[in-house]
Amino acid sequence: MRYLRWLVSAAFFSAMVSAPVQAQGQDAETEAFVRGFVRFLAYHEAGHMLMGQIADLNSRPDWTATDREDYADRFAMILLAPDADDPDGVDEIISAAGGWLQVDSSIVRNEPHAPAEVRALEIICLLYGSNPSAFSGFAEYVPEGRDCPADYKLIETDIEEVFRDYSGETGREIDIVYAAPTGGMEAAQRFLQDSGIVEDLKSDIEFDFYLTHRTTIQAMSCTGRAKPDTFYSDRVRGATPEQDHFVITLCYEMIDARLKYGLRGLEDDAQ
Ligand SMILES: [Zn+2]
Repeated sequence: MRYLRWLVSAAFFSAMVSAPVQAQGQDAETEAFVRGFVRFLAYHEAGHMLMGQIADLNSRPDWTATDREDYADRFAMILLAPDADDPDGVDEIISAAGGWLQVDSSIVRNEPHAPAEVRALEIICLLYGSNPSAFSGFAEYVPEGRDCPADYKLIETDIEEVFRDYSGETGREIDIVYAAPTGGMEAAQRFLQDSGIVEDLKSDIEFDFYLTHRTTIQAMSCTGRAKPDTFYSDRVRGATPEQDHFVITLCYEMIDARLKYGLRGLEDDAQ
């Protein structure tokens, strides 16, 4: 919880913080921070995948690209909403917010999404809204005029009613592929495998949602491809719509960049 307070304070109230990060704990803190951010991004892509596979929201003509991105962020937030007595879960979701506050353009690139700071505050708003009494400490960071509990309830109900499956039956299993890393991405691959994020995501989705289509989460070195340093979700068309293949791609390069960048930005604010 100390880490959580530090991160939030560092990000939002730089002047309040005086304790420097202990040299010894720095690697562990960086890794926890990156893990939270990477998890959020992976779950965001799963939001896109489920929107396409279950509700066909991706082709709604009245939705802009920004609407879809907001929805995917909210989807991730609902899937990852931590219990108040789960400090690791809270730390991870705060790390996701912190990740957006590192707005350095060399790290957050090719973003069709809302401004990073807006995304960070949305996470804080929905976290607070998920349990206003337990998370009352976040009330002061909530954008003025926002009814975060109502917003949380709205998206939660949507996902309950439109997306979740209560039949007790299991849909198609998700395939996981860790492609061999190239271009010096070995550490990023190891980090992703050690984190268990991909396996958590697979079981969370298979447990709560009924997948009708072949679905794969692939982790790979993406250099030389269209989007080398991000995560993305694709619908690969088959001979018939039933044969469409949903693919979530997690690029090692994005993880590598984040691990190297670490807590920079947040740390600087804290000094
Ligand atoms: Zn997106």
